[in-house]
Amino acid sequence: MPTYTAPTRDTRFLLNEMLDLASYGNLPGFEHATQDMIDTIVNEAGKFCAEVLAPINQIGDEQGCTRHEDGSVTTPDGFKEAYEAYTEAGWGTLSQPEEFGGQGLPHTLGMVLEEYTASANQAFGMYPGLTNGAIAAILAAGSDEQKATYAPKMISGEWSGTMNLTEPHCGTDLGLIRTKAEPQADGSYSITGTKIFISAGEHDLTSNIIHLVLAKTPGAPDSSKGISLFIVPKFVLDDNGEPGERNGVSCGSIEKKMGIHGNATCVLNYDGAKGWMVGEENKGLAAMFVMMNAARLGVGLQGLAQAEVSYQNGVTYALDRRQGRALTGPADTEAKADPIFVHPDVRRMLMDAKVFNEGMRALCMWGALQVDLSHKAQTEEEREAADELIGLMTPVIKGYGTDKGYDIANNMQQVYGGHGYVSEWGMEQFVRDSRIAMIYEGTNGVQAMDLCGRKLASKGGKAVQAFFAMIDEEIAAAKEVAELKDIAERLEKGLGEQKAATMWFMQNAMANPNHLGAGAHHYMHIMGIVTLGFFWLKMAKTALEALANEPEDAAFYQAKLTSAAYYAERFLPDAGALRRKLEAGSDNMMALPEDAFATAA
Ligand SMILES: Cc1cc2nc3c(=O)[nH]c(=O)nc-3n(C[C@H](O)[C@H](O)[C@H](O)COP(=O)(O)OP(=O)(O)OC[C@H]3O[C@@H](n4cnc5c(N)ncnc54)[C@H](O)[C@@H]3O)c2cc1C
Repeated sequence: MPTYTAPTRDTRFLLNEMLDLASYGNLPGFEHATQDMIDTIVNEAGKFCAEVLAPINQIGDEQGCTRHEDGSVTTPDGFKEAYEAYTEAGWGTLSQPEEFGGQGLPHTLGMVLEEYTASANQAFGMYPGLTNGAIAAILAAGSDEQKATYAPKMISGEWSGTMNLTEPHCGTDLGLIRTKAEPQADGSYSITGTKIFISAGEHDLTSNIIHLVLAKTPGAPDSSKGISLFIVPKFVLDDNGEPGERNGVSCGSIEKKMGIHGNATCVLNYDGAKGWMVGEENKGLAAMFVMMNAARLGVGLQGLAQAEVSYQNGVTYALDRRQGRALTGPADTEAKADPIFVHPDVRRMLMDAKVFNEGMRALCMWGALQVDLSHKAQTEEEREAADELIGLMTPVIKGYGTDKGYDIANNMQQVYGGHGYVSEWGMEQFVRDSRIAMIYEGTNGVQAMDLCGRKLASKGGKAVQAFFAMIDEEIAAAKEVAELKDIAERLEKGLGEQKAATMWFMQNAMANPNHLGAGAHHYMHIMGIVTLGFFWLKMAKTALEALANEPEDAAFYQAKLTSAAYYAERFLPDAGALRRKLEAGSDNMMALPEDAFATAA
């Protein structure tokens, strides 16, 4: 059975040393986030996830969810008890606003919990994860009454939430939505239509489920400009605000799928269900995007989370499994064979995983801090700058983070040889579970287009220029430090490739938008590679400063320096090759007629 230990030492390094979270103590919500408090939350979250959620991960995969004839759904053994323990401990309240029963702590700490939860049990983590997204949409766009009615019980975990966008004929292109919302005399709407692939759509964990549903009112524009957002509770609330009459929404079936079996992916049939509009008519997509942006960061974290848990098991196995001898001669002369850990090819996979995970964690924690700053920084200028940076980075965190997360899970399966392919060891579950993150919350192809088609050019490229300036500044300072010079110079080269790719888009994509579409995936990866390079430089700098004080765990900081050097020499060069691909444009990609793709017998 695979094991999981939350990487609390690394998280504390990032929060306390690299980001120095305690230094933001003058901002609302941060005043309680002292180093002691941060350490306690990180350690307790890690303990909870490792001890309560990880042990039921394989059970959840094997059993999956069960739909009964009456449409009810049972989650796998142990999920209900674990959910009770999760809500009793107040984990869902961590970074939610105090006025609705939350603890008001920084979102950054909530992201720590999300990572650990997704590593320990991604399928379980999606139940509170979807609820968090639904809360975000209600708080951002709902009326005061809706906030007061729904937010406290969703924050406490008594009720859960879902997001309902997808329909059978409509996934990426939400303008095609057909679900109807007919206004009723009492101010509510009657919702009719079919939604598919709805995560956590039906289950036995909570006494109510608050569905957030995209639908069209009569006469609304026949495009994404005609979509409104509705709250549709599974049980309509009675006069006391408690779940009352069963609403006209039911689970028609649950999908059999590749991974995350413990999470119920439902077809939801809306048959004249009572719903209430959230925000303004025809502005539903904007409100849903609040939810999706938060959710996209959470999905990026899932990429890291699966990479992390599979890496931990890969290391354990590589130290234990004995095959062959080290190329430099026997490492363990007492035994007939050495641990596979000695083979450079195995080390390559483990080092790739280690540096991706630690770099990605740094990016995610920094990203979460930008979310906090976008709401809470002291000046409007600072809030806007943080908002623009996280807007730019969201598709990279989601798209690059989950593409690589899946790659790493695959490589860690490879470390196990044939034992990785059989179910017993749990490695193939990590590969299957990690795969969905590349698809939902907007496929990674769509993330790449969001980055290149919208975010790069937004406000005349203001955000990407700020991103370049932030990295240039770090490089300039690091080049003055002997131990960091080489890493900084390699990062400078990688960043140069990204700047050149940006310029190529500017010069070529206007004339032929297919050039943008053909290179968007590559650009997103270049940016992911460079961004993690930036965070490795920052981590190396932080580690160097810590080493100057001769800390007890000097080995931890030394490992950061070696890992930073490995990242710089092994990951950053890929930016150059990707740039060449991007500059090949779309001509040959788009040249063949459709019938040239037909296979001749
Ligand atoms: C397990 C699971 C859970 C899910 N949970 C939810 C949920 O809770 N709520 C919800 O509403 N939905 C959910 N979804 C749906 C998910 O978000 C969609 O499957 C996803 O957005 C893609 O839509 P699609 O499947 O219709 O693919 P399509 O939109 O048909 O896309 C097919 C392919 O075409 C590409 N493509 C499409 N349009 C473009 C474009 N303009 N430019 C470039 N490439 C393009 C895509 O990248 C993809 O490779 C879930 C799906 C699964 C499998």
